[in-house]
Amino acid sequence: MSQIRVALRNSAAQLMSHSQVARALRFFETNAGAITEEQIRICTVPASPFGEQERAEYLRQKFSELRLTEVEIDEEGNCLGLIRGASLKPLVVVSAHLDTVFSKDADFTVVKRDHKLFAPGIADDGCGLAALIAHASVIQNERIPLEGSLLFVGTVGEEGEGNLRGVRHLFTKGRWASEVDAFLSFDGPGLDRITNRALGSRRYRVEFTGPGGHSWGDFGVANPVHALGRAISRLAGYPAPKDPRTTFNVGRIEGGTGVNSIPSRATMEVDLRSTAESELQRLDAFFRRAMHDAADEENGSRRTGDALQLKLTLIGERPTGETPSDSPLVELALEATRLLGVEPRLDQSSTDSNLPISLGIPAITLGAGGTSGSSHTLDEWYDPRDRDKGLKRGLLVILGIVGIKK
Ligand SMILES: [Zn+2]
Repeated sequence: MSQIRVALRNSAAQLMSHSQVARALRFFETNAGAITEEQIRICTVPASPFGEQERAEYLRQKFSELRLTEVEIDEEGNCLGLIRGASLKPLVVVSAHLDTVFSKDADFTVVKRDHKLFAPGIADDGCGLAALIAHASVIQNERIPLEGSLLFVGTVGEEGEGNLRGVRHLFTKGRWASEVDAFLSFDGPGLDRITNRALGSRRYRVEFTGPGGHSWGDFGVANPVHALGRAISRLAGYPAPKDPRTTFNVGRIEGGTGVNSIPSRATMEVDLRSTAESELQRLDAFFRRAMHDAADEENGSRRTGDALQLKLTLIGERPTGETPSDSPLVELALEATRLLGVEPRLDQSSTDSNLPISLGIPAITLGAGGTSGSSHTLDEWYDPRDRDKGLKRGLLVILGIVGIKK
């Protein structure tokens, strides 16, 4: 697939000498407290997988207050707002994800202790959302004269079974789908990380069903839990290479009703990943073969009753790929990071960037500054100290790619 090239409009060093940009960069220092207050407000609004509406609505109001145009919540639930420059193109998406991994019953109250903020999703992706709003604010308030345009997006469905549904909609069915020239997302904290390679994954639900029966009286009937055991054993024996890193996980199993009943159903959920598409395909083929072999083995050993049935459902699929390290977008991000005195680190991960990368659109994911810990747990925390550096880096990348007028 051919990589769409976006021209680099301004180097990060050029930008730093532009008076309005210099003022904007200082804004992140002088408004550090207000940016953290905004992060607390948005993270207090609950957002669960497939339950992002309330947080999207909050962001919609924020975009309207900041006088973004074309503000809307799209059919999938993403919140969008545009800052139009001298022309629509290049059109650069700046995004962060609205969803968290937590259920709607979680307590989203933000607790402050010393320098740290505690709340589910406070860093992932609360600090990305704070960055999104801070960048929109500073570009509007400082009236930075853009050449191209910026589409700010709070996406839905980045985590887990959301399966990138928000960004997928944006790039396949959304009204801007064919217009986007580059994509940048803020996800989590940090100053050095530049995610330019997409970690691909496939996720399956496996279901074995059979006639069931009494453990004594019906012994010899094909047993779905036994089949599941055979299946897991086969998968666990897969010789996954360390390089390219390839992993598999049975993350959840379920089945049966009691100790003296032959179950009629057993299920598991399986996660397969690799940094290389060819290895992911090899693992995927092995996995499916193993499931069928396990079913055949269990059916072959039964003494009575109907054969059990196997059903494989693909519940998640994230493409692999990369934005080359010598592409203008990545080079700009490397330069901006070094200008701030930080040694950049190219990284591979599964983020909203996977989708544009798979379509050949230059895309990276950046840390939004600050530090965090206990991600994806109820003890998640975020420390905003030094956040301004992450925001400065973000602004230099955004402006370098969209271009500013002298
Ligand atoms: Zn995230």
